[in-house]
Amino acid sequence: MTTVAAYAAPAPKAPLERTTIERRAVGEFDVLIDIKFAGICHSDIHQAQDGWGPGIFPMVPGHEIAGIVSEVGSGVTKYAVGDRVGVGCMVDSCRECVNCAAGLEQYCLKGGPTWTYNDTGKDGEPTYGGYSEQVVVDENYVVRIPEGLSLDVAAPLLCAGITTYSPLKHWNAGPGKKVAVVGLGGLGHMGVKIAHALGAEVTVLSQSLRKKDDGLRLGADHYYATSDPDTFEELAGTFDIILNTVSAPLDFSAYVALLRTDGTMVNVGLPEEPVQIVLQTMFGQRRSMSSSGIGGIAETQEMLDFCAEHSLGAEIELIGADRINEAYERVQAGDVRYRFVIDAATI
Ligand SMILES: [Zn+2]
Ligand SMILES: [Zn+2]
Repeated sequence: MTTVAAYAAPAPKAPLERTTIERRAVGEFDVLIDIKFAGICHSDIHQAQDGWGPGIFPMVPGHEIAGIVSEVGSGVTKYAVGDRVGVGCMVDSCRECVNCAAGLEQYCLKGGPTWTYNDTGKDGEPTYGGYSEQVVVDENYVVRIPEGLSLDVAAPLLCAGITTYSPLKHWNAGPGKKVAVVGLGGLGHMGVKIAHALGAEVTVLSQSLRKKDDGLRLGADHYYATSDPDTFEELAGTFDIILNTVSAPLDFSAYVALLRTDGTMVNVGLPEEPVQIVLQTMFGQRRSMSSSGIGGIAETQEMLDFCAEHSLGAEIELIGADRINEAYERVQAGDVRYRFVIDAATI
């Protein structure tokens, strides 16, 4: 075991503070990663505040990890010391169920995958995330960060990137398709970049026009304010795909009415309460309402390669670890363009 510095929430809703944690010894198929950068995802805040039910404390959040391999186990074949690598939301799964066999480890049927933090590993120990100096991960749950991507702007791709890439691919975003992205935050800004790079015609649906210049610069073709009722009239029956990245409850029927026949609204932002929808809105045009969670390991690698090929990094604000609590407050206030990334050298 190795003792490493980390930032942890000692209890639900408590500010994060500097501490130390134990990382397991590097096993036969493990990779030891010197963490260079860790993104701050909104779900880090939800979990540190017990928003998704009782968490495991102390909690070291962070599932947008980019770093350099500093040691490998004797059985490791995929990575070598010095490799640039990433770790996302999961660090293990059963590896045997049909979903794991199909590369859908995020939908592992044996109780889900082992999450990068706020979970219990196969060794019975709590998992700790990326707000730390080092992490030990089985090589099968590590991905390679291509040379064309800087590690700091690559880190948020490990959650925000794959969470938007996977549904856009699954529902065939591409040339000739009209994609709406609801919300221009950490997830939404990557949704815009990726949908644009896939060749789709991209519209941002945001509460106001406050970030319109950014949206167009990031690749959107159109930008509408959802606070303006005319928007819903003008865009009725328009989109093949609506990618909703907002976790606040919406008038879902109003959004679904913006889909064309056979269109799908896929929700990657999750309200805490059950949602309501008028089914007639779907019935009339065979529309669908769906949801999607991150992506598998192979698809995460595919996303990183795609982003490198198209020079798509996240838009980030790099901070020292002593500013994590301030960053949490700013994320909750919607005051970040578009992802905070912790410089792990400051932990
Ligand atoms: Zn996340
Ligand atoms: Zn499985």
